[in-house]
Amino acid sequence: MKEINQKEIGTLYIVATPIGNLEDITLRAIRVLKEVDLIAAEDTRHTLKLLNHLEISKPLMSYHRHNEDVKTDILIKELKQGKQIALVSDAGTPGICDPGEEVIKKCIEEEIPIVPIPGACAMINALICSGLDTKEFVFIGFLPLNKKNRKEKLEEIKNTTKTMILYEAPHKLETTLKDLKQIIGNRKVVLARELTKVHEEYIRENIDILIEKAKELKGEIVLIIEGGVEKKEENDLLKLSLQDHYEYYEEKGLNKKEIIKQIAKDRNVNKNEIYQQFINKK
Ligand code: SAM
Repeated sequence: MKEINQKEIGTLYIVATPIGNLEDITLRAIRVLKEVDLIAAEDTRHTLKLLNHLEISKPLMSYHRHNEDVKTDILIKELKQGKQIALVSDAGTPGICDPGEEVIKKCIEEEIPIVPIPGACAMINALICSGLDTKEFVFIGFLPLNKKNRKEKLEEIKNTTKTMILYEAPHKLETTLKDLKQIIGNRKVVLARELTKVHEEYIRENIDILIEKAKELKGEIVLIIEGGVEKKEENDLLKLSLQDHYEYYEEKGLNKKEIIKQIAKDRNVNKNEIYQQFINKK
């Protein structure tokens, strides 16, 4: 069945494209790209390479952060005239730290149908392979560059117990890790690098270790940060037996050394004291 609607008004298809590996595009996305009248792309040259790879030839229109206003109006006009349009970004899912929000809001206002064509998204793939809690998470995207706003954002997320997800560019990684350590403390972080590409890698370390490695880490990066321990929970932990306290952190995925350090911190005692209690524990 043909997906493209035949009504007078067009549909805007939000099409996810690969984040590295060109095989990561769905059959549906390929079909929609073949069937639409126009493709709005963050960088037309970049998208042209993908289209050439897929042997698709379509009119392209640029739609990026700096022309979003003007181009939104043009796209809405085309959609109202019955054009079927696909929106793509350079990589992954449009609207996720990429242009898309403006035209999507406007389509809703104008009652123009919008249809997502799901596919790659760096944050979801980094999260699912992180080994950290995936039940609840907060996606932050890029931290603000402005120092004050950045500090405010970090203060805001400091006490969340949910897993946090950040995007970062490699040349800003060290600064970001230092800011994180200063405000949210030395947490466990999974650094997911070059997802779906040849050098895909996950580094699971505490922030201080990652700071030491930061200069060597190149490529595209997602940081998955362990949520904090709830204050109320901290008090509850003190009511547990030492054994239960140990098992609580074991279930959270901490290793023996980390558990002993954390218990000593919670109970405000020397970590050797705790170590002695668990000396025979593997
Ligand atoms: N829309 C994209 C998505 O769906 O994930 C995100 C675009 S945002 C401008 C670019 C950021 O996404 C990069 O700086 C990096 O943090 C992350 N990213 C994109 N591709 C990635 C990859 N292959 N591996 C790791 N991170 C990636």
